[in-house]
Amino acid sequence: MKPFISTRNANAKSVDFAQAILSPAADSKGLYTLASLPTIDFSALLDSSYSDLCKAIFTHLRVEVDSSVLDTALNCYTSFDDPNNPAPITQLENAYFLELFHGPTRAFKDMALCPFGSLFSSLAKVQDTHYLILTATSGDTGPATLTALASKPNVKVVCLYPDGGTSQVQALQMQTAAAPNLKTLGIVGDFDTAQSLLKSLLNSPEFTSKIAQKGYKLSAANSVNFGRIAFQIIYYVWGYMELVRKGAIKWGEKLAVSVPSGNFGNALGAFLAKSMGLPLGQIIIASNQNNILTELITSGVYDITDRSLHKSISPAMDILKSSNVERVLFYLYGDKRTKELLESLESTSRYALSQSELAKLQEHFCAWWGDDTKAREMIRAAFGKGYVLDPHTALAYGAHCAINPSQKTLVCATAEWSKFAPSVVEAIFDKRVDDKQAIQIMLDSGSTIGADIEELFRKPKIHTQVLSSQAVEEAILQWL
Ligand SMILES: *Cc1c(COP(=O)(O)O)cnc(C)c1O
Repeated sequence: MKPFISTRNANAKSVDFAQAILSPAADSKGLYTLASLPTIDFSALLDSSYSDLCKAIFTHLRVEVDSSVLDTALNCYTSFDDPNNPAPITQLENAYFLELFHGPTRAFKDMALCPFGSLFSSLAKVQDTHYLILTATSGDTGPATLTALASKPNVKVVCLYPDGGTSQVQALQMQTAAAPNLKTLGIVGDFDTAQSLLKSLLNSPEFTSKIAQKGYKLSAANSVNFGRIAFQIIYYVWGYMELVRKGAIKWGEKLAVSVPSGNFGNALGAFLAKSMGLPLGQIIIASNQNNILTELITSGVYDITDRSLHKSISPAMDILKSSNVERVLFYLYGDKRTKELLESLESTSRYALSQSELAKLQEHFCAWWGDDTKAREMIRAAFGKGYVLDPHTALAYGAHCAINPSQKTLVCATAEWSKFAPSVVEAIFDKRVDDKQAIQIMLDSGSTIGADIEELFRKPKIHTQVLSSQAVEEAILQWL
């Protein structure tokens, strides 16, 4: 049997890693995931470099990729601030911030999308197939996907973003993307409009066949792709080992993790690492006012019937359907129950776990949410201690402080403050300014910033088209 199966039907055809990446739609509308999780003696890997750690873990996962292909993919971390330590840690009392934002677009998406982009392109080349990757973004996925696939062979990327629905820095990152295989389109509407459009294009047989006539296969590099999840396991192991190497914890000591969560890809990485033997304690799921995950983890009910999306200052967590939760359901309750729960969500907008199922979930996860006011309060609190948080990380810090501040906790820092500078400045200085001014205010107050962000404001805007949903299909076909 091959290592990957559908979360909704374990008996359907199993596939290898390459297929799970390139054609991610699994049987019964499920997601591809590892059929079983190995137990790994992580302590034996304590002295590995980041790349060697990744390669060793992938071998255990039976992720069979040519070692030269994986080497090339992992080589992408040389574009990070410190190539030997792509995810450094900053300590604030018992909070150990695992900084996942030292890549080119200053958000944690780079940690996985950088190597994934290279891997995807290599696999497509081996297959001698050309792919059109469509992506819809609320802000961070778009820039990271464009950067990861810029000038890569056998792939073209179309990135759809809601016009006016992202931060100015995020919009500039997409509009200035300069490579012949990249196209960015603004959509009239919000993120839901962009996402619905993406789904309808991906599921349209007519569009697929028109694309095929031009020699392309359609794919999505979205956060349910296991190729991205695989790389999101590694930095938890790395973070744990860094703390052991620094003497902050002893091997075997339980370390809590706090994750600002949206589509649950990042938190899933922690869950998988823990399930394979990394000594993690509770995985704390932090949310904003869109607190569907808090409700699930505290009450066992996932119910979106009376919910609508609230706009927040942490937009990457503005979510109703958190897709990667499905993989956790699979590992805890099996494929049949997963299918039942997700089908209930699809038909009635709701599912409810039994008491014993909820208890199982709570063995691994606990949850907390805070609104924008709380996020600002945490940004101010951390600034007072000499550290600048973005609004997403601020809520993960808030969760750690609210749940158990005396517990050593690895807090995922998912974006550099510069991506959300106006919110950060408002929190700290009570001033409302635009991105450029906000960045300047923070720089004047002694904060530092990735070089790519500073350059953004000087780069030419290449992609300025803003279209209604109806016009997008034609625009893509024309561009191809
Ligand atoms: C994407 C993102 C998140 C949410 O991560 P998920 O894997 O979707 O849960 C949190 N913070 C930032 C800054 C992000 O870009």
